[in-house]
Amino acid sequence: MRIDIITCLPKLLESPFSDSILKRAQEKGLAEVVVHDLRPFSTHKQHATDDYAFGGGAGMVMMIEPIDRCISSLKAQRAYDDIIYMSPDGELLTQPLANRLSLKNNLILLCGHYKGVDERVRMHLITREISIGDYVLSGGELAAAVLCDALIRLIPGVLSDETSALTDSFQDGLLAPPVYTRPSEYNGWRVPDVLLSGHAAKIEAWRHEQALARTLARRPNLSMKGEKVLN
Ligand code: SAH
Repeated sequence: MRIDIITCLPKLLESPFSDSILKRAQEKGLAEVVVHDLRPFSTHKQHATDDYAFGGGAGMVMMIEPIDRCISSLKAQRAYDDIIYMSPDGELLTQPLANRLSLKNNLILLCGHYKGVDERVRMHLITREISIGDYVLSGGELAAAVLCDALIRLIPGVLSDETSALTDSFQDGLLAPPVYTRPSEYNGWRVPDVLLSGHAAKIEAWRHEQALARTLARRPNLSMKGEKVLN
């Protein structure tokens, strides 16, 4: 999978991809994230990428021309499955959406800033808009990094324990059960006996029960795949 991120603040995207799982995924050749600075695509003096809003009002608007030139130069090199604008009013990012997008080969993520992008970018250049939650960030960079992380960890071979992504919260309509590690007792707080029993079937049943109870308590609206077990 290749993800091209377009931004006017490329520095904001340096650290998320230079450590841990996202770094290793790129080193293993399983994912490639390329960050593009919008400024060189501007034909304006001082390489401006934004301008005042028509009609007045506070806040700058990102201009269409540098964005169009950048997207066109990428499209001339390869075919893209989707050109995504990170936007608070886009489709909400969920695990099923992340699962679907992780199967794509080439994606462009456009990060907005200030008041956002000229509406004509959204009308004519973008194929999809994604929000990472009902709150407003100051730029799309962190949202793009969140989306990249959610997608790249799903690519087979990226996580060292390949089943791990499948046992995370949301994958089966359930939240994840509690987890524990050494020591088995701390300050008198003990790890549940079943986890120390070595009895795989009992541990599996306990985990399912806990996942179910946690889902019912915290997120009752998630699909109740485990209901049969309760009844
Ligand atoms: N004026 C816009 C907000 C602009 S915020 C509005 O009220 O809808 C500046 C940029 O941050 C946006 O262009 C977008 O790229 C990014 N952004 C802000 N919140 C986001 C969110 N929840 N999800 C994804 N991107 C977001």
